[in-house]
Amino acid sequence: MEHHQSDHHAEVLILGGGPGGYTAAFRAADLGKQVTLVERYPVLGGVCLNVGCIPSKALLHLAQVIHQAEESSKFGVEFGAPKLDLEKIVKWKEQITRTLTKGLSGLASQRHVEVVTGVGQFVSGGVVRVEGSEGSRELSFDDAIIAAGSQPVNIPSFPNDDPRLMDSTDALNLEQIPQRLLVVGGGIVGLELATVYHALGSKITVVEMMDQLIPGCDKDLVRPLNQRIKKQYENIYLRTRVTGIKALKSGLKVSFEGGGAPESDTFDRVLVAVGRRPNGHLIGAEAAGIRVDKAGFIPVDERQQTSVGHIYAIGDIVGNPMLAHKATHEARVAAEVIAGLPSAFQALTIPSVAYTDPEVAWMGMSETEAKKTGIEYEKASFPWAASGRSLSIGRKEGVTKVICEKESGRLLGVGMVGTNAGELIAEAVLALEMGSDAQDIGLTIHPHPTLSETLGFAAEMIEGTITDLYLRRK
Ligand code: NAD
Repeated sequence: MEHHQSDHHAEVLILGGGPGGYTAAFRAADLGKQVTLVERYPVLGGVCLNVGCIPSKALLHLAQVIHQAEESSKFGVEFGAPKLDLEKIVKWKEQITRTLTKGLSGLASQRHVEVVTGVGQFVSGGVVRVEGSEGSRELSFDDAIIAAGSQPVNIPSFPNDDPRLMDSTDALNLEQIPQRLLVVGGGIVGLELATVYHALGSKITVVEMMDQLIPGCDKDLVRPLNQRIKKQYENIYLRTRVTGIKALKSGLKVSFEGGGAPESDTFDRVLVAVGRRPNGHLIGAEAAGIRVDKAGFIPVDERQQTSVGHIYAIGDIVGNPMLAHKATHEARVAAEVIAGLPSAFQALTIPSVAYTDPEVAWMGMSETEAKKTGIEYEKASFPWAASGRSLSIGRKEGVTKVICEKESGRLLGVGMVGTNAGELIAEAVLALEMGSDAQDIGLTIHPHPTLSETLGFAAEMIEGTITDLYLRRK
């Protein structure tokens, strides 16, 4: 390979230091490879750790504390109105990410993974050029793993240089708590950040172009969330588009089309959360001969190999869903294949979670998909209003839905909405991976009283053995 051009050679070069990239680097190093990890920012962790999953979960925790304090007046415990110290909140959030990114650099140095800071681009099939603050370097490699992620989609006609128009990264900075916030996009990012800003005192409007919030999820699972936030928020406009935003001194004047929205309305701030797009066109892929599709995704096979045999790709840049837990598993596969192990990405499902209040989580086949494929299925929805644990935490809107193949009883999919659904879904993922049927889940003893029982109860409903509800015999 082209060693002569470079000032450094790596057995495995990894482009991008998010959950995909650092996992690939650590796994490859543990398998005996000499690894260089190229990351444009001075800290590892990528979007997830620095401006995504982790800081948003910290702020969602704060939102939960505020809501629980408010709602506790119902059972006779009254707190005063919260006093917010934004500076302290931001410091607390940053300290969490700092602890984690420090941990990552520790893990990198323990494994002798060399971290190079700068923006990397392929200049050939064997060399990456890195532009850093101290100039440019060329690094050659035997094998490479692309883990360069994605970025928020922005709408070019919006006033994108106005600080009142935010993407998710801006919103997490909590520069200001607007009186009225418009959230464009009723997907996971939009709804999670709406939860945060609502708790901090903003009046929220959500505008979504499809006919439901979180369009990838079954409607019956989104409904309890929708009903709760409908009461909390100013407006939720479905089947509605934003056709333009004008920056005025008094606010951002937004024009709408469709749904029940007015022609226009003015907001103090607007959060745009209409999806993310992959960074495939930003890494010099053509110089290495790597195929990138029009959208910017890099197609890979189940060994995570791109169209160029010794270059692999993982995470958001290879396709949806753009989730850290998909990236970390693909990362191990790529590192193991490079090390000569017979590895492949063959997960049966990748779970999804919206960390809203209530949380919504689903995995395997959704009911919408089951209907589309025409597979014969049975379903059962256990209402959390019949769960002692749910009532004892003051909530009754949750639902656990189980979908099984009619003939065999084999588990096809599970969806949940309710407190901690994001934690509870993990059991369903394991059940699916183990090829369980409804009986397996129903006969599994779940601790009482927990929310986890709701999965067992839903399976018992399919089996017809439930005693915690009365079902008319079929
Ligand atoms: P998304 O695709 O999940 O949601 C975007 C929403 O915006 C969709 O509902 C879409 O119909 C709507 N939309 C698109 N254009 C619109 C327009 N012009 N007007 C109104 N609505 C419009 O994307 P996201 O919420 O931005 O999240 C980005 C990615 O990050 C996703 O892949 C998501 O899964 C991932 N993510 C995951 C988590 C999590 O796992 N908890 C959290 C945050 C982000």
